[in-house]
Amino acid sequence: MSDNKTDEPLAVVGAGVMGTAIAALAVGHGHPVTLIDSSPQARDGAPDRVRLHLRTAQMMGTLPDGRPTGRLTLASTPDAAAEASSVIEAVTEDPKEKAAVLADLAAATSPGTLLVSNTSGVPIDELAGAVPRPEDLVGVHFMNPAYLIRTVEVILGPRTGDGAATAVHTLLAGLGRRGIVVGDGPGFVTSRLLHRMINDAIEVVREGRATPETVDALMRDCIGHRTGPLATADLIGLDNLADSLRVLHDRTGDTAFRPSELLLAKVRQGQLGRKSGRGFYDYEEAIR
Ligand code: NAD
Repeated sequence: MSDNKTDEPLAVVGAGVMGTAIAALAVGHGHPVTLIDSSPQARDGAPDRVRLHLRTAQMMGTLPDGRPTGRLTLASTPDAAAEASSVIEAVTEDPKEKAAVLADLAAATSPGTLLVSNTSGVPIDELAGAVPRPEDLVGVHFMNPAYLIRTVEVILGPRTGDGAATAVHTLLAGLGRRGIVVGDGPGFVTSRLLHRMINDAIEVVREGRATPETVDALMRDCIGHRTGPLATADLIGLDNLADSLRVLHDRTGDTAFRPSELLLAKVRQGQLGRKSGRGFYDYEEAIR
């Protein structure tokens, strides 16, 4: 298992909301990054989005001063991760897709290469079942935006090896992140609590009891939630939120996680939140 120095090459798979933000965090700390996505459209837009994230991170003072930015390379298939010392998977929250990508990544890299999944809620041990080297797999739930929020949730599955547990802390320390370790299981801690609350907030809007603005104002100004649950839903991406709720519902049977009909209707209409320019709120331009 490597020492994960900040000039070591990393691979990030999935160039969406999280993948581009994690790539910005890593190049901003000096790592050369190979960003892999199977979608040509996602690859085309990725360099501009990473640049935008980097500018925001620099403005907010969340990157180390004076460290040269690592090189960003785009690729379309997991074999491009072969030289990476650590690989971070951030593809769509589809358990089968994630399992297939992680299996390909394990095949493309040498034993001891740290395999990280940024899943919001698929149990790490479920994914480990698809990976030939389950001891190298760890969950790291980077928060959104990954280049601003310094604390992350770390999930060590029952089959995670000691080498991977040490390597993930070294990687995170090099990226200036604090990892808090939690037990494995659907939604870990943060998604189990947050997604239930957001889904319920959407139900309040569907029932006509309050507008998104009112729900968010109450949760911000009375309860101290930083943005309000509907604004958070738009930031996450409504398609990803629906997928993550399905993962939780399928694995727990808890009906609180059944995606609200209003959420599903918005996804069907292409209203995906900030990433499409419209969700529970309107945005001047689509921001990924
Ligand atoms: P997204 O839809 O914005 O991006 C997913 C990307 O994965 C897309 O560009 C897609 O083309 C790519 N992809 C899908 N299948 C692929 C494959 N087989 N090979 C390569 N690329 C593939 O999703 P996101 O919001 O960035 O979420 C990514 C992961 O991070 C999910 O597991 C999600 O639950 C998790 N997550 C999301 C947030 C959030 O706020 N959005 C926060 C924490 C964790």
